[in-house]
Amino acid sequence: MAPWRTGCGRYRKWLEVPFSKDPAGRSEQRAYHRWWYALHREPERRYRKTKLGKLKVLVIGHYSPSLSCARCGVSDMRALCIDHIDGGGRAHTREVLGTRSGNGFYYWLKANHFPPGFQVLCANCNLIKMIENKECWAG
Ligand SMILES: [Zn+2]
Repeated sequence: MAPWRTGCGRYRKWLEVPFSKDPAGRSEQRAYHRWWYALHREPERRYRKTKLGKLKVLVIGHYSPSLSCARCGVSDMRALCIDHIDGGGRAHTREVLGTRSGNGFYYWLKANHFPPGFQVLCANCNLIKMIENKECWAG
């Protein structure tokens, strides 16, 4: 699954364009990428040079096509993260990643084809939600 799969049916056909050496196919791909970069200009410009940035845009974009926080709408990629809708994020992350944490989770989500049960929150809303659910000592 890819971020543009959700809610962008008009451009969906470009997903079917294979990566080929055929010049016609390449120009279709270029047109698609131009559109995608235009839509995601700010975060993409900031992150496109890093491997992690590309992965993060992909993962965040899947759960939030507008690349923004589900609660407050903040769209700064640096603040956005994946939240377990039902809570228990720390235990689950430990379960699937072992001792690794943090960025490894994005790789896990991609490798597992973006399983349901997650949403995109900014760091603030994530912390507020943890306090509300008493998953966190703060507050
Ligand atoms: Zn937020």
